[in-house]
Amino acid sequence: MQRVAILGLGIMGGGMAANWLSKDFEVAVWNRTAVKAQALAGKGAKVAATPREAATGADFIFAMVADDDASRSVWLGGDGALAGAKRGAIGVESSTLTPDWIRELGRHAEAKGCGFLDAPVGGSRAAAEGGELRFFVGGDPQTYEAARPALSAVGNKMDLLGPLGAGATWKLINNQLAAGQIAALAEALEVAKKAGFKNEQISELILGGAPASPIVKLKLPRMLAQDFEPADFALSLMLKDARYAAALARSLGAPAGMIEGAAQAFARADAKGLGAKDIAAVVG
Ligand code: NAP
Repeated sequence: MQRVAILGLGIMGGGMAANWLSKDFEVAVWNRTAVKAQALAGKGAKVAATPREAATGADFIFAMVADDDASRSVWLGGDGALAGAKRGAIGVESSTLTPDWIRELGRHAEAKGCGFLDAPVGGSRAAAEGGELRFFVGGDPQTYEAARPALSAVGNKMDLLGPLGAGATWKLINNQLAAGQIAALAEALEVAKKAGFKNEQISELILGGAPASPIVKLKLPRMLAQDFEPADFALSLMLKDARYAAALARSLGAPAGMIEGAAQAFARADAKGLGAKDIAAVVG
């Protein structure tokens, strides 16, 4: 039986862990807030006290945490996953992070004799719970092939996009578009309401029109109903993604005006205390 360690049992990591358990992997779990591991212990997961303990003996070590700082803390240091990883284990960073950090982390993994991939995901809570994530992968082809059994147990679509960092880069481009659409939708809704349109009209007109992208279709009902809890994707994490995406654009000498505007919209909502609510709360 192959052994998976998963560090981070939030909305996404918790769903992934449950899928590995249901597909005959031996699963070790770790979460900073230990109580979140209890439900998975009941399903057969081994609960570890540290990332290092979770990673010990694992064939695949996945992380699914908030941001670069969280990732650094779970992989590095005396209690970090790389301290426990065996030679030949494969580390997989699935959090949405910066490509620069991913490449630095890859060098640490290589120094430990581990394979390493960045494999951030498309899809939200429902895809994580349903084993239907889409992986955007960066790394070398051999490591990717070796990791496919673990990836395909929790996802149904995956592409190797280039060397280490390519997955993180594409994920930020993906969320540049997603953040921009949701921030623009929030602004448009405010204009529509101030102009006197009613929710039913607004819904029918947007959903029947060209701007109704999948994410607009997904979030419009929650935005109109002011239904922000529970979060499927926390607003504070979209703010982080927008900031990372703007920095990526600037580092490549590409225009960043629209994503910077979107980041400001998410920052305003975050400053109102809405960070833990769904990204739909950018309208609030
Ligand atoms: P979440 O439910 O908020 O969970 C965040 C996880 O990160 C929790 O396990 C949290 O631990 C952990 N964490 C935060 N700061 C930490 C730190 N300093 N040290 C150690 N652990 C820390 O988030 P999520 O929705 O699962 O998202 C996880 C990652 O996937 C993020 O990078 C996000 O941008 C990305 N993502 C999310 C979605 C989505 O729709 N939700 C979709 C695609 C990608 P605690 O429980 O102790 O707080």
